[in-house]
Amino acid sequence: MRMSSPGFMRFRARNLALALATLAFFASGIGLCVAWAQAPQGAPVVVRAIHAVEGQSPDLFAIIIDLSEETTVRHEVLTGPDRLVIDLDRSFVAASAQRMTGRSLPAIGALRAGLFMAGQSRIVIDLARPVLVERADFVRQSGVARLVVQLRATSAEAFLAQARLDAAKRLSGRNSRPEPPPDDKGDTRPLVVIDPGHGGIDPGASGLKGEAEKDLVLAVGLALRDRLVKSGKVRVAMTRDDDRFVSLNERVKFARAREARLFVSLHADSLAGEPDVRGASVYTLSDRATDALAARAAEKENRADLIAGLDADEEARGGIETILVDLARRETRAFAQLAARQTVTALGNRTHKTPLRGAGFRVLRAPDMPSILIELGYLSNPQDLRALADGNDQKSLAETLANALEAFVLATSAPDSAVVAPAAGP
Ligand SMILES: [Zn+2]
Repeated sequence: MRMSSPGFMRFRARNLALALATLAFFASGIGLCVAWAQAPQGAPVVVRAIHAVEGQSPDLFAIIIDLSEETTVRHEVLTGPDRLVIDLDRSFVAASAQRMTGRSLPAIGALRAGLFMAGQSRIVIDLARPVLVERADFVRQSGVARLVVQLRATSAEAFLAQARLDAAKRLSGRNSRPEPPPDDKGDTRPLVVIDPGHGGIDPGASGLKGEAEKDLVLAVGLALRDRLVKSGKVRVAMTRDDDRFVSLNERVKFARAREARLFVSLHADSLAGEPDVRGASVYTLSDRATDALAARAAEKENRADLIAGLDADEEARGGIETILVDLARRETRAFAQLAARQTVTALGNRTHKTPLRGAGFRVLRAPDMPSILIELGYLSNPQDLRALADGNDQKSLAETLANALEAFVLATSAPDSAVVAPAAGP
């Protein structure tokens, strides 16, 4: 999402109040009520708009965030690539603040805003050059709580130093976060975890008319859950059942904590300039991608954390133990390949011409839980897009997937199972 310069100028001309607030802020905030405050518990805070404004000098500017009331704000910077992250407690982002388009100041690249976790919004700003937050203050003005985040250009060294400080703070906070207890104790039916990709601040791929991958895969995921619950042969849990961001690690952790028999990640791809490429593909984990298309798909899906303002390296280190039990891992992979093959067979003519592929998807890295990732189709293909966005097609796709997944899970879970994991493929 970018702001165009002409649009930005028009906006400034229209919104005199904002211009005045900005001027006043840069003139050191005299006469304005400037305060850090925590909103009282109650109704969620609405993030109504996000603007960028220029300051008095080229290396001074501000991001202005309009909220329905004041709330707790945290900000940090991240490297690789350089990003500024602003978290707003107890809030959600209104459509008007998500839709901002056009181009902004030279230091500021793409901007994403959305739900990061329950009751917390996040704004991620890609930085084209190093900048740091100088001040962040609320300016109350005619019923709007206006958060002015003043930014100043800095050196690469100073930026890196701040990013390291922020990372240390983040890690110490994370270690104290308790794990949610697994539910469904006592039910011995095998568990399938459905993992609709992306969500919240991370929309995933987009379709020809702006359809978001996160919405389509959630719809198919919910239909799949309903269908599995209806037949009652397996238990079902979802890594997300609404429009929220879940990191790749958390998705895997969620399923492993519940000892899922099968982890199924749902996605939809998009190929710019190739509208004829269509059909579903089923992926398993592979150290080396089976082909260029698979490598590209994994690279894209693995970017989810980065898009949502997480440190991707930190996430990669923090997830699964690096020392894996090799045998368990090999067996897990063999089972995953079996699940993938059965899914492809069930999908029949819905599949891509090479439907079975492997690549280094982070979300498939559990050593002890068969995991597959289904790219349900291409949003860049009109036929696939139509099918994925259609409620009836979503249901029939869910029916097909449910039959294949149930068959796999029940055959490999029975105590006297005759199914033996096939030899691990290449
Ligand atoms: Zn995806």
